[in-house]
Amino acid sequence: MNKKGSVLVVDDEVSICEGCKKILLKEGLYVDTAKDGLEAKEKIRREKFDLVLVDLKLPQLSGEDLLHWLHSSNPDIVPVVITGYPSFDGAVTAVKEGAYDYIPKPFTSGELRRVVRRGLERKWLIQEMRRLREEQEKNLKLLSQERTKLKSVINSMTDGVLVVNRLGELVLYNCAARQILNLEERCLNRPLKEAVGNDLLIGMINSLLAKQKKMTLSQEMDIDDKNYLVNVAAVVDDGKLIGAVASLKDITRLRRFSETKLAFLSMVSHEIRSPLGVIEGYLDLILKGIVKDEQQIKDMMKKAKERAQTLRQLVDDLLSLARMESERVKKELVPLDLRKIISEMVDLYQDKAEEKNIKININLEKIPAILMDRNDFILVFTNLLDNAIKYNVKGGSVNIYIKKEGPDLCLRVEDTGIGIPPESRERIFDEFYRVKNEKTRRIPGTGLGLSIVQRIVKAYQGRIKVDSSEGRGSVFSVYLPLENFAVEV
Ligand code: ADP
Repeated sequence: MNKKGSVLVVDDEVSICEGCKKILLKEGLYVDTAKDGLEAKEKIRREKFDLVLVDLKLPQLSGEDLLHWLHSSNPDIVPVVITGYPSFDGAVTAVKEGAYDYIPKPFTSGELRRVVRRGLERKWLIQEMRRLREEQEKNLKLLSQERTKLKSVINSMTDGVLVVNRLGELVLYNCAARQILNLEERCLNRPLKEAVGNDLLIGMINSLLAKQKKMTLSQEMDIDDKNYLVNVAAVVDDGKLIGAVASLKDITRLRRFSETKLAFLSMVSHEIRSPLGVIEGYLDLILKGIVKDEQQIKDMMKKAKERAQTLRQLVDDLLSLARMESERVKKELVPLDLRKIISEMVDLYQDKAEEKNIKININLEKIPAILMDRNDFILVFTNLLDNAIKYNVKGGSVNIYIKKEGPDLCLRVEDTGIGIPPESRERIFDEFYRVKNEKTRRIPGTGLGLSIVQRIVKAYQGRIKVDSSEGRGSVFSVYLPLENFAVEV
C-alpha cells in the first residue's frame, strides 16, 4: 500500500489515462487506470484506492452510475469527476450527488496535481475525524464502565461515603451512607444542609471547604445509637480544592470493647489491691512490733499466706483467660481419655477433700476418646471439682459422673455443699462475680473460675448448666456434642 495515496484513473481516452498516470506517479502516488466503468469496478473490488478520477462519459457503465455505486459501496474513496466543457452541467450534478470535486478537460498537470492533492487531503481529514470520533466513543464507553465499576465498589463498602463539590452540594453517596444518615431519595445535587440532616457532619465538611486547602478532619460521632469515626478529606485536583469526601466508619463494637476492657482492668486492679492491702497490713503490724505474741504473729503470717495464695490463684486464672483470648496460643486437639484424667485429678485433690472430711465418688461410664486440648479439659474439671470441695460442708461428699446423654457427653459434678442463691445462679459465670454472704465470707476465690469454664465449654460448642438448692448442694453439668469431638480409638 502506498503511503502517499493510491489513485485510479477511469477514462476511455488512453492518452488521458496515461497522461494522468505519468503526472501522478511523479507525485509519488500509486496509480492505476481503467478504460471503462466495469473495469474500474473490478479493480476497486480487488485493490484499495483512496481517490478515483472518473470521466463522466464512459462506455458500458456511465460515469454517473460508477459514482453512484462508489457512493453506496465505497464511501471512503474520494471521487473526482473529469469532464469536458459540454458536460459541465453533468459535473455539477455529479458533485451534488457526492463527487468531491471536478476537473474540466483540458487540464494542466498543475491543475490535476492540485485537485488530487485536495481530494487526498480531504480523505485523510475524514479518516482522522472518524478515528477521533471512534476514540471519543470508546473513551466515553470506558468512562461509563469505569463509573459503573466505581459505583459498585463504593456501594459495596461497609463504611458510609459522601462526596461534596466545592459549592457544598452532595454529588455522590453510597448505600451505607444512605442508611447511616437516613438520606432521602432525591438528595443528590442538593446543598448539604438540605440533603443531610446531621449538623455536626455538615459543620465538619463546611469548615474543611472554607479552609480551601489539602487537609483531613477526624471526629467521633454518635448517630442514632451507634458510634462512628468520621473522616473528612479535601478532594484536590491540579492543586485546587474541588470538594470534600467524608467517610463514616462504624466503631460501635470497638468503643464497647474498649469500655469493657477498661471495666475489666479496673476490676482486676480492685481484686489485686484488696488482698495486697491485707498482706501489707499484717506485715506492718509485725514489722512495727505492734504485735509481739508469737502465736499471733504466726496466725497473721498464715492469713497473709492465704491472701498471697488467692493472689497467685488470681494470676493463674488471669493467665488462663489471656491464653483463651490469645489467638496465637493454638489449641492442641488430641484424643483424650477423660476417665484417666479425672482419676488423676481426683488424686491430686484428695488431700484438700480430706481436710474437710469430704468423700469423692467417681462414676465413670465407658465413653469414647474425646478430641480436646488437655489443658482445657483439666481447667474445666478442676475448677468444678475445686468449687465442689470449697463450697462443701464438713463431712459432705462430691459425686463425679461422666456419661453419654443423648447426643452429648455429660460431665457432672455434684456436691452436698452450701448451694447457690437463686438470684446468683445466672451471674456466677460472670467474671469476678462471687456470692457474698456469711457462708462464703471465709472461702477464698477469684470469681474467675466459672467464667473460664464457660468460655472453654462454648469454644467446643458445648453448654454448662447449674442446679442448686441452698443448704443442700449444687450440680454442675457440662455437655459437649459427641458428634463433634468423639473419636473412635
Ligand atoms: P471462685 O470460686 O473463685 O469465687 P468461680 O467463678 O469458680 O469463682 O465461682 C463463682 C461463684 O459461684 C463463687 O464465688 C461461689 O459463690 C459460687 N459457686 C461456684 N461453685 C459453687 C458450688 N459448687 N457451690 C456453691 N457455690 C458455688
